Amino acid sequence: MKGTVYKSTGSWYTVKAENGTFYECRLKGRFRLGEIKSTNPVAVGDKVGFEIETKGDETVGIISSIEERENYIIRKSVNLSKQTHIIAANVDLAFLLVTLNNPPTFTAFIDRFLVTAEAYEIEAILLFNKVDTYSEDELLEIKFLAALYRNIGYTCIGISAETGKNLEKVKQLMTEKTAMFSGHSGVGKSTLVNALEPGLDLKTSKISQQHLQGQHTTTFAEMFDLSFDAQIIDTPGIRGFGLVEMEKEEVGDYFPEFFKLKGHCKFNNCLHIEEPQCAVKEALENEEIAWSRYKSYLQILEGEEEQYRKDIHTN
Ligand code: GDP
Ligand code: ZN
Repeated sequence: MKGTVYKSTGSWYTVKAENGTFYECRLKGRFRLGEIKSTNPVAVGDKVGFEIETKGDETVGIISSIEERENYIIRKSVNLSKQTHIIAANVDLAFLLVTLNNPPTFTAFIDRFLVTAEAYEIEAILLFNKVDTYSEDELLEIKFLAALYRNIGYTCIGISAETGKNLEKVKQLMTEKTAMFSGHSGVGKSTLVNALEPGLDLKTSKISQQHLQGQHTTTFAEMFDLSFDAQIIDTPGIRGFGLVEMEKEEVGDYFPEFFKLKGHCKFNNCLHIEEPQCAVKEALENEEIAWSRYKSYLQILEGEEEQYRKDIHTN
């Protein structure tokens, strides 16, 4: 049988078969691990093959194969083993909820989210929530930001989870897809999900800061079916995704407006900092690239440098 993993506890997996029935499954004894060395060989969102075994009146599924993933989101554990944990697989859409205040969402945070989504090859969509609360000036700021991100290819929608404004558009985008919602605590994730699907109560925002800082970093996601033919993956404790590890030369590839200029800089390995005849710096001076984006780019580069130094020290 074939199915999709909806929930996992590490030893048990809840799999929804193609016929809609849910089965509690275990992994086959000698399950072949994929290429990724992770603490969990099978994650929520994985498409798996399994067989049913019946012992007395107990029915158990045995997962024996896993389909190649379209993409997957990981978290590195903070302990010394540095093992990777796969949080979710086969995610179609990553929504980021953004608010100007209560809480503020800075462009640096948005850009990190977008870079990570690009690296994971997941389509990212920006939802500017709480539009019912903004002043004229603030609405202009939202318009400015939305135009900035639309220009580089991202879908942006101004919404109100409270009044329902533009939620039909969000539903349309979600139809036949598997989505994740991220954003700072207080941006309205639970309110939005409840407005989309009354009764569904996500854990995403319920996780305490204390838990995040604790040693227990293992995070188990869960998938939910919505009534309008869409799925949500709920990932407790994940407000954005952590930045994936990448080479410095790679960072620019995840800024679509930089990537467009690839090959146009004098140097092939141009990092767009102080190099002569840099197409990105030129575009920046011509105001074709936003300063906020360039600033975020530099910050991410610096972060990579820091990570690099840390790695050298621990190895
Ligand atoms: P979460 O931490 O991201 O899940 O945020 P919540 O859904 O708990 O929302 C935080 C607060 O913002 C709550 O008091 C919500 O009622 C409020 N809120 C969420 N969305 C909106 C909105 O669109 N408009 C207004 N006015 N308030 C909202
Ligand atoms: Zn350059």
